Amino acid sequence: MASVTFEHVSKRYGEVTAVEDLDLEIVDGELMVLLGPSGCGKTTALRMIAGLEEISDGKLRIGDEVVNDVDPARRDISMVFQSYALYPHMTVARNIESPLLVRRYHVDGPGSPARKLTRAERRERVAEAARVLDLEPYLARKPAALSGGQRQRVALARAFVGRPKVFLMDEPLSNLDAKLRAQTRIELVDLHRRVATTIVYVTHDQVEAMTMASRIAVMADGRLQQVGTPQEVYDRPDNLFVAQFIGTPPMNCLSGTFSADAGGGVLVGTSRFPVPPGLQTPLVEGQALVVGVRPEHLPLATDGTIEAVVRAVEWLGHECLITVQVSGQTATVRQAGMSTSPVGSTITLAVDPAAVTLFDPASTRRLS
Ligand code: ATP
Repeated sequence: MASVTFEHVSKRYGEVTAVEDLDLEIVDGELMVLLGPSGCGKTTALRMIAGLEEISDGKLRIGDEVVNDVDPARRDISMVFQSYALYPHMTVARNIESPLLVRRYHVDGPGSPARKLTRAERRERVAEAARVLDLEPYLARKPAALSGGQRQRVALARAFVGRPKVFLMDEPLSNLDAKLRAQTRIELVDLHRRVATTIVYVTHDQVEAMTMASRIAVMADGRLQQVGTPQEVYDRPDNLFVAQFIGTPPMNCLSGTFSADAGGGVLVGTSRFPVPPGLQTPLVEGQALVVGVRPEHLPLATDGTIEAVVRAVEWLGHECLITVQVSGQTATVRQAGMSTSPVGSTITLAVDPAAVTLFDPASTRRLS
């Protein structure tokens, strides 16, 4: 196990900057998810850890060692991709064993020379990997006789068998159907809990990130936007990008202006949103602001201060999503059960000041 640290790391391909000035410490034993839209640089960051991309600037450490110039084979990491490419003619046991046949390992204590494992050592490791990943009943089968989820577990076992310091995973679940993806997510979290290895996991799927991560590093345009626990990035997004990338549906972000009347509030057209308590940044009359409120924090209330017109209602079984217009701007309201407000009707919404996040529209940053 080891930590992974990016110190002002950049990666350029000619004119294109794929990763810019990345400063991020992945703590030993944590499951760090690199999350962001396509092209944000997350795969490039992962490939730099693997040693598959040269680093243009900055330092990358695995544990205490700067690895910028360390050969990929010497980095002691394992990588699992979305296309797991098992050997079709080999049994599950042989597939899991395959990396042990080619690589050398430092198994005789610190400082000892690397050597190939003996047959008995290989058997023991395959048995352990099969046990951890619940593959014992399938060891004699060929990949064609496995389900997609079982095949993905074989790929994980093959990565696990070398006991790497760090696991790298690049969208490993994206080839699975929705049900299997949800199940494999739980298995991966459980595996991580049991082996406590550092995992760096790349995805564009924020649900995967929210459900699996110890911490999430949100990236956009090659830059780190925020790093924090799932709850931190959900509850206190640092900027408008994170606010609108995390959450399904995302945070409502409405443009308004500050009004000092009646104790202070943010006017969005004729509707008044409260200012969150404890705000350190002074606000001035007429200042442009963006009000951020999660859909679940806009309950219908007869004495609410926000007037909204219902534009659409989507019923999801246990809850409904009501699309509304607030002074011409679109917002979403999440409500338990079925909506009783017909399309076209006017409703009033309340909002707890503590549920409001204010952003500066110019810098896009959260006001603290
Ligand atoms: P995706 O989820 O689509 O894989 P990503 O967030 O992982 O996207 P990267 O693959 O890291 O993004 O790419 C980041 C940027 O770097 C993109 O603009 C991409 O076009 C560019 N890029 C990546 N590899 C190369 C390359 N070999 N040569 C030139 N540009 C590249």
